[in-house]
Amino acid sequence: MDLKRDVLNAAKFISRTNLVAGTWGNVSARNESEIFITPSGVPYDTLKEEEIAVVDLESGEQIAGLEKASSELPMHIQIYRDHPEVRAIVHFHSVYASVFASMRLPIPCYVEDQAQIIGGDIEAAEYAPPGSWELAKNVSETLKDKFGALLANHGAVAVGRNMKEAIIAAQIIEKSAQIAAIVEGKGKKLPGDDIKRLRRLYLRSYSRGFVKGPQEV
Ligand SMILES: [Zn+2]
Repeated sequence: MDLKRDVLNAAKFISRTNLVAGTWGNVSARNESEIFITPSGVPYDTLKEEEIAVVDLESGEQIAGLEKASSELPMHIQIYRDHPEVRAIVHFHSVYASVFASMRLPIPCYVEDQAQIIGGDIEAAEYAPPGSWELAKNVSETLKDKFGALLANHGAVAVGRNMKEAIIAAQIIEKSAQIAAIVEGKGKKLPGDDIKRLRRLYLRSYSRGFVKGPQEV
């Protein structure tokens, strides 16, 4: 499994699909001891594999890569340390997710794919400055066992058991925010028991096909 290639492909994908503008946002994947993360300020369209930063998970120190790791490295480290099942992270600034992040309101769970892939309402982490350990802790705590969270006045983060799943979670977060913005006030939320059942089913069976599939996105 080539995690550097996963990170590179995912970074280009979030740029191509407008989940981020310019060099904003960042993507990472982990193995047992290392994090592979997009560099700070390098345009995604020209990004090369050798520019992906390699960071030691335990020390948090960069150990390889031609460019400096993303300034949001603390958030990635904190999430990996607190959530061992998480193997890939996508941080992005898409429009509708940012609308809810700006209101500091959760994205309510109206549709089944949100229940399955994210695990319910997408909560907003408390505000803290970008790149800070405070933000890292707020986001990691807010995630709990879900695959997505909002960063107040900033954007969103999606996680997964591999890169393919994290990318799908990112797309579902933005789609859920669009739906919530349109139905707000009129939509009927999915009942909590149904959310739990759908999530359980997804984690145990529905996801088997694509989480074990090829890593390209
Ligand atoms: Zn950001």
